[in-house]
Amino acid sequence: MRKEEITAEIIWDEAATRLQRQLHKTTYEQWFQNILPVNLDGDVIVLGVSDDFFADWLKDNFDDVLSDALASIDNIDYAYKFEYGHTPKKQFNAKAASREPATTSAKSVKEKTPETGNKRPVNCLSRHTFENFVVGEENRYAYTAAKTAAENAGLYNPLYIYGGTGIGKTHLLQAVAHESLEKNQKTRIKYTTCEEFLNSYVDSLRSKKHADFRSSVRDVDILLVDDVHMLANKTQLQEEFFNTFNTLYNQNKQIILTSDKQPCEIAGLEDRLVSRFESGVTTEINHPGFETRLAILKMMQEEHLVKLDDDVLQFIAVNISSSVRRLKGALLRLVAFASAMSVSDISVEKAETLLRKLLEEENASKTISLESIQRAVAEHFDIRVNDILSSKRPKNIAEPRMVAMFLCRKLTAFSYPEIGTAFGKNHATVMNACKKVPELCSKSENMRRSVSLLERQLHN
Ligand code: ADP
Ligand code: MG
Repeated sequence: MRKEEITAEIIWDEAATRLQRQLHKTTYEQWFQNILPVNLDGDVIVLGVSDDFFADWLKDNFDDVLSDALASIDNIDYAYKFEYGHTPKKQFNAKAASREPATTSAKSVKEKTPETGNKRPVNCLSRHTFENFVVGEENRYAYTAAKTAAENAGLYNPLYIYGGTGIGKTHLLQAVAHESLEKNQKTRIKYTTCEEFLNSYVDSLRSKKHADFRSSVRDVDILLVDDVHMLANKTQLQEEFFNTFNTLYNQNKQIILTSDKQPCEIAGLEDRLVSRFESGVTTEINHPGFETRLAILKMMQEEHLVKLDDDVLQFIAVNISSSVRRLKGALLRLVAFASAMSVSDISVEKAETLLRKLLEEENASKTISLESIQRAVAEHFDIRVNDILSSKRPKNIAEPRMVAMFLCRKLTAFSYPEIGTAFGKNHATVMNACKKVPELCSKSENMRRSVSLLERQLHN
């Protein structure tokens, strides 16, 4: 076969056949069946997968297997790369179903196509729906606000959702896109990350197609911009964003933004943008607590054929609290192991072994040192660490000192006496600070914001 006749489909067909021969049936179905050959780029085949987790997992666990399967096809060793955002192909046709009913993964059955048609918001993952979002105390406001915005466009304008990484901001934003489209197929929705906004903007300047860019973000009914903290210190981009914002806002078009910070905390964000962003509804999304984490795991496992015991799910929920993304990673690892090895039961001990690396990362991300807290607080309040460690009593030093003690207690496992020692004070001083800081926060909005910002900074 001449090289130019070779397509991504042909290569993938061969590789998939090899994989099927080599792998256990469930493993193949769970991990490879839904991969789509998208494109051939020289000797690199572009493989379409649903999302980054899936891709990361394949890379971490099946890199060799995949490379082998793609090696020496018509004398060429093909490399591969992944592209996200591809829904699994619908292999659940009647013929396949009657032949091999068990082969269809729960996921592809559950995959939801809006009843109103097959239109899907560009760039949005199909499983990022309100339906698939587990609501708990920590995200209830954000969920309700997003749902309200989807149902009554323009009512909460803009809606600004902020919070740490991996806890559902993107999911909610894309859920708005799905819901709005389901309600009215004609709704023009633009979902973009702030980074894409920047790239398209720069490209449009270069290629002199600025009008096209403008129209792509302004001739819409709903504009969803993910991660607007990326606007930090980018003056020209802020200008463009400001104009886009105003155009849509003045027509009462719905704007929803997400960020890891509050508007006023984004470095170098022009005042006029801060006040625009704050002019609608601002809502925080917090790290999910144990119950929510467990509920998320239970929901996620429904997508998989393998079911884990409740005590294993609890083990994951207890030990992984930093992000839903990591929670999901843990579940995937266990499910994949179980299906690859064809075991139906994973004990808590086995789970602990399989998740060792993840648990270590989790712990490392949780061990915040007392010194790093002192440094972050000093920097935030523009004083020196030495001031915090001193006995100086003026308010501009005493308050940050209390905040630092409070955060040490809240974010680490150190005891009152241990924290006291790190500050050259006794335990009673620390206890007092821990009581005082929430009072200060309830009295002063500035203080509340400072503490919440520091907490998120240190968390990440
Ligand atoms: P963020 O944008 O805040 O960094 P994402 O929205 O990308 O986080 O969430 C990370 C992963 O966790 C996604 O797969 C998302 O679907 C999932 N997730 C987060 N929160 C929830 C939730 N409350 N219920 C179900 N899945 C969730
Ligand atoms: Mg996100």
